[in-house]
Amino acid sequence: MKVGLTGGIGSGKTSVAKVFETFGIPVYYADDRAKSLMVSDPALVEGIKKLFGAEAYKADGFLNRTYIAEKAFGDDNLLKKLEALVHPAVLEDGNKWHERQKNVPYTIKEAALLFESGNYRAMDKVITVFAPLEMRIQRVMERDQSTREAVEARAAKQMPEEEKARLSDFVITNDGASSLIMQVWDIHEKLLALNASGTP
Ligand code: ATP
Repeated sequence: MKVGLTGGIGSGKTSVAKVFETFGIPVYYADDRAKSLMVSDPALVEGIKKLFGAEAYKADGFLNRTYIAEKAFGDDNLLKKLEALVHPAVLEDGNKWHERQKNVPYTIKEAALLFESGNYRAMDKVITVFAPLEMRIQRVMERDQSTREAVEARAAKQMPEEEKARLSDFVITNDGASSLIMQVWDIHEKLLALNASGTP
């Protein structure tokens, strides 16, 4: 079974994914993997250079993140083109990764843009992590030492969390009041039962 895990910026996706890992479930971190494929997948590197020019990469081959972010965040059309290059590459890589996981009841794919990319359709089940916007802003400002404006700008580009929750099979509330571990355990048990019954 393929299980997608998503949520808005700073909702706590990675924190939740780590809990699943402690239960022995393999997790594919799509956003980290995307960053790595952007420097290691030759076809993707070529596509990015065509889109942004050679300045997209530094002399040592590293991605020029600041340059790309500046260009893409100010231009929705360019951002869409970048996503149209990156999403299929990550999808293919994620599928290969999933095939390599043996003897596990299910795998988790953690991705910020699971819905926006359409990739949620390839998942058997989807979990959304929900946290109030103000809490997410505070957490990310603290984690990344970023400004409120920068976090708000990123959040505004994402699908509203209420909409994600509506399209999900499970919702985890990460508002500091309800136990994350208990919520993850409950979903884990349900997924094990679904896997055992053979009806994802
Ligand atoms: P992003 O979308 O930016 O990748 P994310 O959804 O993966 O973020 P995390 O990185 O898991 O979110 O969490 C954001 C920050 O909030 C982290 O610094 C994390 O340690 C902190 N955090 C997450 N959950 C809680 C919680 N329940 N209580 C306190 N801090 C939390």
